[in-house]
Amino acid sequence: MAESVVVGAGLAGLVAAINLARQGRDVVVLEREQRIGGSAIYHPSPEGSPINIEGFKEYSGIDLEPALHTGALAPFQVGRAIAYGEMIPVDMNAISSYMIERGPRSTSLDSYLYAIAREAGVRFEFGHALVSNDDVAELPPDTIIATGLYFEGFDATRVPYLTSFHFVARQMIEDTESNHVSVYHGEFTRDYSYTCSVNGIQFAHVFQRKPIGKDTLEAFKEQVYTAEGIEFKTWNHFLFPVPAASIHNPRLFAGDKILAGTLAGCMESYMFFGILGALVSGKIAAIAVQDKARAADEFKLATSSFASAYVAKKLSNLAPHSVQKVMMPLALRHAFDYPRVAETVKRAMPGWKNITR
Ligand SMILES: Cc1cc2nc3c(=O)[nH]c(=O)nc-3n(C[C@H](O)[C@H](O)[C@H](O)COP(=O)(O)OP(=O)(O)OC[C@H]3O[C@@H](n4cnc5c(N)ncnc54)[C@H](O)[C@@H]3O)c2cc1C
Repeated sequence: MAESVVVGAGLAGLVAAINLARQGRDVVVLEREQRIGGSAIYHPSPEGSPINIEGFKEYSGIDLEPALHTGALAPFQVGRAIAYGEMIPVDMNAISSYMIERGPRSTSLDSYLYAIAREAGVRFEFGHALVSNDDVAELPPDTIIATGLYFEGFDATRVPYLTSFHFVARQMIEDTESNHVSVYHGEFTRDYSYTCSVNGIQFAHVFQRKPIGKDTLEAFKEQVYTAEGIEFKTWNHFLFPVPAASIHNPRLFAGDKILAGTLAGCMESYMFFGILGALVSGKIAAIAVQDKARAADEFKLATSSFASAYVAKKLSNLAPHSVQKVMMPLALRHAFDYPRVAETVKRAMPGWKNITR
C-alpha cells in the first residue's frame, strides 16, 4: 500500500489525510501537540467562516452537515459591525457563514474531522514536531505540510512571511446556546477586531501587521465594553506569521513537498477566512499527491482573488482614519443589501470558485 505523510493535524492536514486514506493510502499524520486541537494557548476558541457545505461535500467527499448537530458548526444568530462607534447589523448568513468551535473539545470541528480520519484508517503520531529544514528534507517526497499559523513550519519550509501582532482574550460563559460575532473597525487597528462566542466560549481578538500598544488595547477594550457590556479579565499577546511577504505566496509546493492551509498562504488577505482556505487547500494538497498539474490549476483558481484583495487592502490602509470613519459605516450598512454583492463576496473567497463551479 502506498504511504503518505501529513504534518499538522489541523483543518487542512485532516482534510488532506482523509482524502488520501480514502484513495487507499496508508496515511500517518505527525502532530506537534499531544492531542488533536492545536495549541492550548488559544484553543478551544470560536472562529467564524463562510462555508458552502454542499459544495464542499461535492468537492472533497467530506460531509460537514452532521457537524451542525455536534455543535462544531452553528449558523450565525447575531452578526454586527461596530464601525468607529456606530453599530450596524450584518447578515452573515447572506454569505453562508457559520460559527465554528476550534480546539480539543468533542464539540470542535477539529474533533469532528479527526473522527472521520480515524474511521478512514488514518494513523496519528502525537508529540512529533517539525522544527528545521533538515526535518523537512528527511520527510518523503509529496509529504503534505500543514502546520498552520506557527513560525516553525514557515521557517522549516523557508516560506517567507510577515509578522502580525495580536491580543487575544478568552473566557467561559454560562450561555452555551447563543452565538454572535461583532466585528470592530476603529482607530485602534488597521485590520479589524472582533468579539464572538459559541458553545459557551467567549472570545476577543485585536490584531494588525504592526505592533499593538497598550493604549490601543485599552481603546479596543473600552469600545467592547461600551458596545456590548463585555469585559475580559486576561489578555494574551501573540505574534503570528502572515504569508503575505512574497509575490510567490500563496504557493502549493516547497521543493518536493506539498503545502496546505495557512502555510500554503490559503488565508484571504483582507478578512482572513483561514478556515475555508484550510479546508479547500487540504483537498487540493491530496490531489497534488496524485496529479500535480491538476492540483496546481485548482490551487490557482482557489487563490485567484488574493492578489486583488491584497492590493485593495493596501489601498484602503492609505486612507486616514478621518476618511475611514465616514466610508466604513456607509459600506457596512449597505454591504449585504443586494444579492449581487453577497454573490461577489462569495466568489472572491478562497476556494469558493472551486467548490461552486
Ligand atoms: C486566535 C485565532 C483566531 C482565528 N479566527 C479565525 C476566524 O474567525 N475565521 C477564520 O477563518 N480563521 C481564523 N483563524 C485562522 C484559522 O484558525 C487558520 O487559518 C486555520 O486554522 C488554518 O488551518 P491549518 O490547517 O492551516 O492550521 P491549523 O488548523 O492551525 O493546524 C495546524 C496544526 O499543525 C500543528 N503544528 C504546528 N506546528 C507544527 C510543527 N512544527 N510540527 C508538527 N505539527 C505542528 C498544530 O499543533 C496544529 O494542530 C484564527 C486564528 C487564530 C490563531
